[in-house]
Amino acid sequence: MHGTFDKNIRKDGASAPFYLPQADECDLFEAAHDNNLPLLLKGPTGCGKTRFVSHMAAKLGKKLYTVACHDDLSAADLIGRYLLKGGETVWVDGPLTRAVREGAICYLDEVVEARKDVTVVLHPLTDDRRILPIDRTGEELEAAPGFMLVASYNPGYQNILKTLKPSTRQRFLAMEFNFPAFDEEVQIVMQESGIGKDRAALLVRLAGKLRALKGQDLEEGISTRLIVYAATMIEKGMPVERAVQSAMIEPLTDDEDVKLGLNDLVAAVI
Ligand code: ADP
Repeated sequence: MHGTFDKNIRKDGASAPFYLPQADECDLFEAAHDNNLPLLLKGPTGCGKTRFVSHMAAKLGKKLYTVACHDDLSAADLIGRYLLKGGETVWVDGPLTRAVREGAICYLDEVVEARKDVTVVLHPLTDDRRILPIDRTGEELEAAPGFMLVASYNPGYQNILKTLKPSTRQRFLAMEFNFPAFDEEVQIVMQESGIGKDRAALLVRLAGKLRALKGQDLEEGISTRLIVYAATMIEKGMPVERAVQSAMIEPLTDDEDVKLGLNDLVAAVI
């Protein structure tokens, strides 16, 4: 488990992935970075958190290690482990350790999904000690200048067991993300898929109607990511109805009755 390392980074940020700001989040990120403070991004899936972090890393000319957390992810996956290599046992740093040594950014996506032992590791790193104890090697690593921990989670999930404990969340600066406003989302969909303005606006309008059903028939509102998928398929020549069905209806629910209701809604909009 090594996480992904974003090589697409230049010091001047010229190749920064496209990100359309919603408010002052870029300034806040930069301030957190400059002041050695960890940052927590809260928001629904597919609303731009990961894109924001890769954009900011590139803009600041920083290496970025991204780890998609899952329920089997343990502290050892982040810190590192001894591995057998050619008959020898060698220590291999995990993505968090590498980021700490190099003064890079480590982004833990959906951190609440990870096993409980992960939070224990994060505590000494997220207060003014900024250290990472590595029990297996006896090392106590002090974070290199520039190291920044960013974590995200989705507070919308129903599972109350999977929320961050106050003792953990109160170590982070936090900001809330939501789906972009209408005009911004249209712009994002156009930029990401190449689709024209009228069609992008149609899809975003439809998404607005689907989002209004959150909490009634749907657990989560439709993500910007799915609108981009639909737009991309349409731009590649797929009929609008089919693209909407596969990108904006099927991923939302398995319930046949709910699907029928959503289809009626789609028919009324497109
Ligand atoms: P999250 O990490 O919140 O689950 P992502 O960052 O992966 O979501 O966003 C999903 C997709 O939505 C991105 O790949 C991008 O196409 C699009 N997107 C969402 N918000 C923005 C934004 N503000 N600027 C540019 N693209 C965005």
